Amino acid sequence: MCIRMKLCCCGCCTLQTGTKIIGWIHLLSGFSTAVLNATTISLMTSVHESNHVEEYYTCIVKIIISVIWIAVSIPLLIAASKNSRPGLLSPWLNFQFLAIAGLGYGLYFSIVVILPAKEGSFIQDAPHMENSFEGDALLQRNLQRILPSEAFSAVKNELSMFGARVATDIYKLGRECELTPPYLKLQDAWANPQNKVVTCESWKELKRTSAREGLIALAYERDPKHQGFSRLIQMSKNYLFAPSSGLYSCPLAMTDGAAKTLEVAGLKNHGESFKNLTSRDPERFWTSGQWMTEKRGGSDVAGGTETLAVQDPNSKNMYKLYGYKFFSSATDADIALTLARVVDPATGKITSGTKGLSLFLVYVDQPSNLHLMRLKQKLGTKQLPTGELLLDGMTAELISSPGRGVASISSMLNITRLHNASASVSAMRRIISLARDYSQRRVAFGKLIRNHPLHVRTLADMELECRAGFSLFVEAGRLLSLEENGTATSEQQQLLRLLLPLLKLYTGKQCMKVVSEGLESFGGQGYMEDTGIPVILRDAQVTPIWEGTTNILSLDVLRALAKSEGQVLVAFNQRIQGVLDSSISPSLAECCTLLEKSRSQLISFAQKNPNQLEYVARDFAFGLARTLAGALLLEHASWSGAVDSDSAAAQRWLGQRDLLAQSLVSGQTTNHSTLSVQQLDDALVFDGYDPKNLLSPLF
Ligand SMILES: Cc1cc2nc3c(=O)[nH]c(=O)nc-3n(C[C@H](O)[C@H](O)[C@H](O)COP(=O)(O)OP(=O)(O)OC[C@H]3O[C@@H](n4cnc5c(N)ncnc54)[C@H](O)[C@@H]3O)c2cc1C
Repeated sequence: MCIRMKLCCCGCCTLQTGTKIIGWIHLLSGFSTAVLNATTISLMTSVHESNHVEEYYTCIVKIIISVIWIAVSIPLLIAASKNSRPGLLSPWLNFQFLAIAGLGYGLYFSIVVILPAKEGSFIQDAPHMENSFEGDALLQRNLQRILPSEAFSAVKNELSMFGARVATDIYKLGRECELTPPYLKLQDAWANPQNKVVTCESWKELKRTSAREGLIALAYERDPKHQGFSRLIQMSKNYLFAPSSGLYSCPLAMTDGAAKTLEVAGLKNHGESFKNLTSRDPERFWTSGQWMTEKRGGSDVAGGTETLAVQDPNSKNMYKLYGYKFFSSATDADIALTLARVVDPATGKITSGTKGLSLFLVYVDQPSNLHLMRLKQKLGTKQLPTGELLLDGMTAELISSPGRGVASISSMLNITRLHNASASVSAMRRIISLARDYSQRRVAFGKLIRNHPLHVRTLADMELECRAGFSLFVEAGRLLSLEENGTATSEQQQLLRLLLPLLKLYTGKQCMKVVSEGLESFGGQGYMEDTGIPVILRDAQVTPIWEGTTNILSLDVLRALAKSEGQVLVAFNQRIQGVLDSSISPSLAECCTLLEKSRSQLISFAQKNPNQLEYVARDFAFGLARTLAGALLLEHASWSGAVDSDSAAAQRWLGQRDLLAQSLVSGQTTNHSTLSVQQLDDALVFDGYDPKNLLSPLF
C-alpha cells in the first residue's frame, strides 16, 4: 500500500471520526435545546400566563433551529457511519460536511446560547391587581350574610364596578400621588407671598372621585334600599378604596368624622358645612381636617392644648383662635374641627384640663390668619400634606357647649378610628392579594412557589390574621349601622363603645405584622420601591400611631369599662354567649369550648384584678379583641353559606392562636422575687442608662 493511500485512509478516518463527533454533538445539543424550550413553554402554559408572548416566540424559534439542527446532524451521522470504507465518502465531501457543521454550530451557539446569556431572556412577571371586590370572597360572603338579600343585590354591582376601578384608574391616581408628593409654596417667583400647599392633579381628581362615588354621602343619605345598613355599605366601599387611594382615605376619614360630629350636634342644617361634606357633587364636595395634636402632645390633649379662643364681642359663638397645631394631615381641607381653650372675657383666665377645652369649626381659607409653617418629612404617607399650622387670629365658630370639646370630638374619633381599621385591614388584604397572585407566577427550585407548602402556609397565616381583623371591622360597621338607623339595643351600643378602640388598636398592630410578612413573600422585589410594594409597609406604620396609639387606646378600653360600670364587658360577654347558643356545626364544637375558656379567663381576670388592669391594659385589650374575633369567625363559619376556608379560619384562630397573653392567664403581674414586676421592667429598660453618658440630641 502506497504512502499516499495510507495518508488518504488516515485522513478519511480522522475526518470520518470528526464528522461523527460533530454529528453527535449536534444531535444532542439540538435535542436538549428543543426539550428545554418545550418544557419552558409547557410551564408557561401551566401557570395560565398570557403575558409571555415574546418568550413564547423565542422558545418556538429556538425549537425550530434545534429541529433544523437535528435534521442536519442526522444525515451527517448516517453518512459518516455508512462510510466505513475509506474512499466512499471523499475527504472533500467530508471536509464540506465539517465546514458546514462548524459554521452552523458557531451560528447556532451564538443565537441559542451566547446572545441571550448576556442579559438572559427571562423576565419575571409582576404580580397583578385583581378586582378588589370580586377577589375578596370574604367581604362578599360577609355582606351576603349580614345584609338583607335585597340590600345585597342592590349594592353588589356597585361594589363590583368600584372593585374594578380601584385596581385600575383609581390605583393609578393613588400611585401618582405617591410619586408627586405635595409641597409648600411660600412665595412665587416675584416674592409675592403664597402660603399654600401644592398638590398634584391626581390628588384633586381623587377628591372629585370620592364625591362622585359617594364615599361619604353613602353613610348619610341612608338610602332605603340599604335597609338600614348604609354605614356598613359605605365602609365596605371605603375599605375597597383605601389601599389604592394614595392616602386620600385620610382626609375622607376626617371628613366623615366631621360630618358625624355635626350630625350628632344637631348641626346638619347649620350653614353649608354638613351639606358640602356629604355632597356627591365634585364642585361642592368639601373635606375636613382634625386639628387636635399640639407640640405638647396628641395623646394627652387635655394637658397639651394651648390654643386660645378669644370671643368676638359682637357674636356669641364666634371666636378668634391663637395657637400652634403640630400635626394637621389635611392642610388642603376646606374646614377643620379643632380644640381650644376659651379665654374668659371678664378675667382673661382659662380653665386647664379637659374641662377647659371646647370644639370649634374653622374655615381653612383664611390666608392672613393661618400660616403654614412647614410640611413634615415623614416615613410614609408622603402623599398626604401633613403640616404644622400657626393659627393667628383665625375666625372660628364654637360648636360644642363650652368645656365639652373632648366629649364632642369623640364622635369624630369614633369614625376616624373605624376608617383607620378599614385602612389597616385593607392593607393586609391588598398585600395578600398581590402575594397569592405572585405565588402563581414565581418559580423557585423548579416549581411555582405556590406549590411549596411552606410558602402557602406562610400566606395562610397572614390570611388568618386578616380574617380576624376583618371580622372585627365588619362587626363594627354592622353595629354602627344599627345605631345610626336607631335600631341598636343598649347592649349593642355598649359593645360598639368597647369595639371601636379595640378594633383600631388591634388591626393597626396586625397590619404591620402582616404587611411586613407580605413584603418578604416577594423576596428582594418586595423591598424595591419601583414595584409599588414598599409603600404599603411605609404607609401601614402610621395606623398604630395616629388616632391614638396602642397604649392610649388600651386605656380607652378601660375608660369604657369604668364609665359604663362594667356594662361594656357584659355586652361583650352576651355577644359571645349569643354565638355559643346559636347552631354551631358539630365539626366546630371544639371551637366553642376554646372560646368559652378564653372568655371566662378574661372576665375573671378583670373581676379579680381591677388594680392590675392598667398595667396589663394592652394584653387585656388584645385578649378581648382576639376572643371577640374568634366568636365572630365561629359565627361566620356556622352560617349556611360558609365554605371550608371559613371553618378552617375559626378552627385555627381558636385552636392554634394564643388568644390571651401569659400575664392574664398566670397572673405574672404579681410580685416574684423581692421586686415588683414594674420594678423589673424598670431594671430591664434602664439597665446602663446614665444621663452622664448622653452626648447630643438626635437632630
Ligand atoms: C403622619 C401623621 C399625621 C397626623 N395627622 C394628624 C392630624 O391630622 N391631626 C391631629 O390632630 N393629629 C395628627 N397626628 C398626630 C397623632 O394623632 C399623634 O402623633 C398621636 O396621637 C400620638 O401623640 P404624640 O405624638 O403626642 O405622642 P405622645 O403622646 O408623646 O406619646 C409617646 C408615647 O407614649 C405613650 N404614652 C403616652 N401616654 C401614655 C400612657 N398614659 N400610658 C402608656 N403609654 C403612654 C404613647 O403610646 C406613645 O407610645 C398625626 C400623626 C402622624 C404620624
